[in-house]
This record gives sequence, C-alpha cells and structure tokens, in this order.
Amino acid sequence: MDRIDGRQVNQLRPVKITRNYIKHAEGSVLIEMGDTKVICTASVEERVPPFLKGQGRGWVTGEYGMLPRSTEVRKVRDSSKGKVDGRTMEIQRLIGRALRSVVDLEALGEITIFIDCDVIQADGGTRTASITGAYVALVDALTKLLEQGKISRIPLNSFVAAVSVGIKDNTVILDLNYAEDSTCQVDMNIVMTEKGQLVEIQGTGEEKPFTKQEMEQMLAYGEKGIMELIKIQKESLGELANLIGVEGNGSG
Ligand code: UDP
Repeated sequence: MDRIDGRQVNQLRPVKITRNYIKHAEGSVLIEMGDTKVICTASVEERVPPFLKGQGRGWVTGEYGMLPRSTEVRKVRDSSKGKVDGRTMEIQRLIGRALRSVVDLEALGEITIFIDCDVIQADGGTRTASITGAYVALVDALTKLLEQGKISRIPLNSFVAAVSVGIKDNTVILDLNYAEDSTCQVDMNIVMTEKGQLVEIQGTGEEKPFTKQEMEQMLAYGEKGIMELIKIQKESLGELANLIGVEGNGSG
C-alpha cells in the first residue's frame, strides 16, 4: 500500500526532540513528529495532593490542551467554554498514567510533577507525541531536583514512549498522520516501556472489528516504533540517559 507521504507501512514520521524549549519550566521539550508539534513541560511543586499527604510518596499528573489554530479548523479553547471536554480529559489522564508507570513515587518523596502538554500543531498522534516528549521533560525536571539534593537518585525505572498504529485499506500502518487517522478503519494508541512491557493500549475497531492476528501485527509495529522513539529520547538526553533504570532503582 502506498502511504500519503510515501512512508513504509512500519516507518515513523521524522522525529525531533528539542530540550530546554521554555525558560521557566524545570523541564521543557518541543517534540515534532512530522507536522505534529507539542510543547511538553514538567513543573515541580514541593507538595502532594491531599489524598497522598503524609505518605512520603510523590505524584505525577498530566494536563493537555490544543491551541485554537493547532487544528485545520479553529478549535474553541476549553477555557472559553468553562469546561474540559471528554477527549481532553481522557488524554490528560492517559499522559499521567503513562508517566507514573515508570516513576518510583516513593523515591520521589512528597513532590508533585505537573506535566503540561500543549499542542501547537496537530496532524494526528498528539497524545502519543505528548507522552514521548513529556518523558524527556520529566527527566530534565528530576535532574534539577537531584542537583538540588532534593532526591537521592533519578526515580525512573525505565524509559516510556508511545505511538499510534492502525489499519487502513486492510493494511497495518505505524504512526498515523491526520489524513490517515481520519480515513483508517482501526486506530490504536500504544504506550510501552523500554523493556517492551505494555502500559496501555487504546484501540477501537468501530468501523471494522479487528482480529487477534491483526492486533499482534499492530503491536509488533508499535513496539518497533516505540523502540526507535526511545532511542531518540536517549540521544536527546545524552549522558543523562545513563541515570535511568540503573541497578537498585526499585521495582518495575
Ligand atoms: N483533531 C482536530 N480537532 C480536534 C481533535 C482532533 O483537528 O478537536 C485532529 C488532530 O489532527 C488530531 C487528529 O485529529 O491529531 C486525531 O485526533 P485523536 O482524537 O485521534 O487524537 P490524537 O491522534 O491527536 O492523539
């Protein structure tokens, strides 16, 4: 099958991660996957939500938004409607879960990291790009805490990244752009750690229910894409990548 942008079926779009993109945040990244561009920041606050008070554990939480002209047709801001829509809620929860899956919250201590993912240009796969970029911003924020002596090690058990896969014209494809996403029959988002462990799978076959065999192929493409994304995360982090998942870094 020929893809709209000439890619192989199991090929990612060009990926670029730019660290230290925002001056004020402890960690900040611009991630570009093809024409999808997301700014991810990680902000540190030395307190935890009420439900965690006094337990000696930290928290990582996510927020997500799309700028009005990130999309082809101007999208009204959530804030001007006075409520967060269901899609946004779903995505921000996913981002929080994805990152928490690799954080040792006990080793973090009573600190909250707020992850903000703001889409400046949307061309499919904004939630998965958010997770991949936010992880790098999180490492930078944790490194600042380590330098300040507020934590004794980087409390991360593994790398984590995410990618979309789908089925279009009966063919499994990796990393869908908007033109593909809006015309595919099956759409799936996969979050996976460096160890190849699945954190989350969001898949829907509403238009064409899919078989377990097709699911296997989507997972295989997803894993290939995620391992490439983790390699890019590591390249962008340089030496810092060596501090992650080292011996004695807890369970996971
Ligand atoms: N999209 C849009 N307006 C919206 C929501 C989505 O234009 O309100 C586009 C955008 O390009 C997005 C794509 O549709 O990346 C796919 O949206 P989906 O909800 O599947 O999330 P994503 O793939 O971005 O995680």
